[in-house]
Amino acid sequence: MPTESTFLLAGLFLLLAAAGWAMGRFGERDEEDAPPPLNIDYLKGLNFLLNEQTDQALEHFLEMVRVDDKTIETHFALGSLFRRRGEVDRAIRIHQNIIARPDLASEQRDQALFSLAKDYLHAGLLDRAEKLFVRLAEGSRYQVQALENLCRIYEQEKEWQKAIDAGQKLETLGGQSLALQIAHYYCELAEKSAREGDFSSARHYVKKAQSGRPRTMRGALTRAHIARETDDNKTAIRLYHRIIDEHTYIIAEALPEIVAAYERDGSTDGLDKALRNMLQGNPEMSSLIAYTAIINNIVGIPVIDDCVDDYILNEPTLSEFVDIHDLTNADEGSKSEALQKVRAALAKLAAATPRYQCQECGFSSQRLLWQCPSCRNWETQRPASRVQFDTVLQHSITNH
Ligand SMILES: [Zn+2]
Repeated sequence: MPTESTFLLAGLFLLLAAAGWAMGRFGERDEEDAPPPLNIDYLKGLNFLLNEQTDQALEHFLEMVRVDDKTIETHFALGSLFRRRGEVDRAIRIHQNIIARPDLASEQRDQALFSLAKDYLHAGLLDRAEKLFVRLAEGSRYQVQALENLCRIYEQEKEWQKAIDAGQKLETLGGQSLALQIAHYYCELAEKSAREGDFSSARHYVKKAQSGRPRTMRGALTRAHIARETDDNKTAIRLYHRIIDEHTYIIAEALPEIVAAYERDGSTDGLDKALRNMLQGNPEMSSLIAYTAIINNIVGIPVIDDCVDDYILNEPTLSEFVDIHDLTNADEGSKSEALQKVRAALAKLAAATPRYQCQECGFSSQRLLWQCPSCRNWETQRPASRVQFDTVLQHSITNH
């Protein structure tokens, strides 16, 4: 099947032929009456295309049309068209051909290097793309874009220190704050060090993460992890306490760990008290705590059990299935049994739907992802605080 690029190349050959014909017709006055023959080169190029030999046609085009001031834009347009269509090898061939010109102006060389770097990125050749972006980041009019691309590459390669360096340079040049992004890079380094058992480096990186503004609660969470790993349960509890006081969405992530830390300490009374205090000032946090408890099967802490009961009794969609009036008036024994059944059913439903959703692009996942894999923003996912009944229904319809 001829592709869009085949047609574009065919168009280019025809244009070149027409230009040649026009020049022949009006340029050579002495042969006024006889139309010049079509140049054999164009016919050869077209012939390749008619036989669907796109690569040969491209080579022929590159041989025929030298890179100069008049034709360079055509080369760039053709290159970016090939890349957009996913024909990266051809885009690379064109951009390398431009760079090979010895008399190229430095601005055009930078443009060609930048285009080639994007081709490599597109082809997944990260090392080659990195090399070119590093060169452009040292000084060219593509400095800012090169640094942005470098951050993206280092994120993919988990080269966090290099990502920090590129991010800081970008902050200075671009004039925008990347504090949150850089704080996450430090958290990544801290978690990596902690995994390797190097806790003093891990603490150092968390400190760095928490020195910028805005702060990420991930820093406190990572510090708590380090404390737990080093058997410093008291510090872990103190940090978890701070997370509760901040009454942010991060409780959805931290609650199971917080409960485990208090249980290891021998009593969950302190947790019960801390949560009650927090809920007094922030009653809207109740459903998030309830939903988190339902998903993680956290039972036996009075304040959390109360949140879950409230949640079940006040969930409007549930009233379609459960007779709330009967439930409220039932004796304690049968009430708790009925609530337990609803709770188990909700946990099953919740497990079948994504829990976290990106506020920027809508990407959703079961686990919290600090960086959205779709839009690549940091810390843009938020947890759902109720069962998404519409999603559950959609899910069951598409699966049946
Ligand atoms: Zn996103």
